[in-house]
Amino acid sequence: MLTDALARFPRLDLVPAATHLEHLPRLSRHLGRDIWIKRDDLTPLALGGNKARKLEYLGADALAQGAEVLVTAGAIQSNHVRQTAALAAKLGLGCLALLENPLGTSEGNYLSNGNRLLLDLFGCDIETVANLDNADELLEAAADRLSGAGRKPYVVPIGGSNALGALGYVRAGLELAAQMQGTGEDFDAVLLASGSAGTHSGLALALEYAQPGIRAIGVTVSRPEAAQRPKVEGLLERTADLLAVEVPTGLQIELWDQYFAPRYGEPNAGTLAAIRLLAEQEGVLLDPVYTGKAFAGLLDGIARGAFPGRGPLLFLHTGGTPALFAYHPWALLEQTQYSIIVGPDNY
Ligand SMILES: *Cc1c(COP(=O)(O)O)cnc(C)c1O
Repeated sequence: MLTDALARFPRLDLVPAATHLEHLPRLSRHLGRDIWIKRDDLTPLALGGNKARKLEYLGADALAQGAEVLVTAGAIQSNHVRQTAALAAKLGLGCLALLENPLGTSEGNYLSNGNRLLLDLFGCDIETVANLDNADELLEAAADRLSGAGRKPYVVPIGGSNALGALGYVRAGLELAAQMQGTGEDFDAVLLASGSAGTHSGLALALEYAQPGIRAIGVTVSRPEAAQRPKVEGLLERTADLLAVEVPTGLQIELWDQYFAPRYGEPNAGTLAAIRLLAEQEGVLLDPVYTGKAFAGLLDGIARGAFPGRGPLLFLHTGGTPALFAYHPWALLEQTQYSIIVGPDNY
């Protein structure tokens, strides 16, 4: 049913095959709980990540509308802006990015390395803005300026998170449900980072259709639950509307908001310990802004008994690893101090 509804929307084939679902044997032994990971960090667009899936639908729409320039916005180290700029290059379109510095940092790597370095390689035009509190207005104003100059802009919202972009995670959710069933395991929960909400909304909708009752837990990376819940639920409703399907009555959005402090874009000690643990146990890289926080939630959830069943847990790895190079060296210094005090063995 969702498959048929999705098929009506044009899609660029940026993620032509299912991303891998992998068991993490060493970490599972270490934790005493089976952990699996879906590798959306390895989508085949410019070092990977979840935005490629949203851009399949947004990019198709931009082409259908005859766009010449993709206009978007995010933090200086935005993974979304990186993949949008790469897609613009791939399609022969221009790209204009409005960038904010949410940390107010002058640290050189943050300002010029990681994702920001790649924007220059993709030939993306940059405008620096004081903040993105009213991002939609800023994006519209930038698009108006381009139109005034005779160009055809297409606005990609922050994180690619409108209903059309969220279709990418409806598709991914159906893919994931089939993969989970294929393992023969009875998964207790899926965990993921919940930011601009398109990933969580699309995935939760698809999973509830494909595997009713499975928990899809969003670990917030930028705001408390009270502010995140209306974003996820509102986008989920708009996505269902776009697909002309019902929101299943049993669907419950679960959010954990105790892992994002001190704020968006700034890792905490638990974030850094989670990054180090997965790197040391499995050779898999997380990131300091999204997946490190979400994985810290998974680890703490196990420790505090938040998964009462005995089934395996599934982590959706949404990418972000280029930011590791932008957060060096101060994040790593803090990490070293932290691992002396707590250390991964405490999980
Ligand atoms: C954008 C992003 C997320 C969050 O996805 P949303 O759809 O914005 O909620 C998670 N992880 C990474 C690495 C991201 O870049």
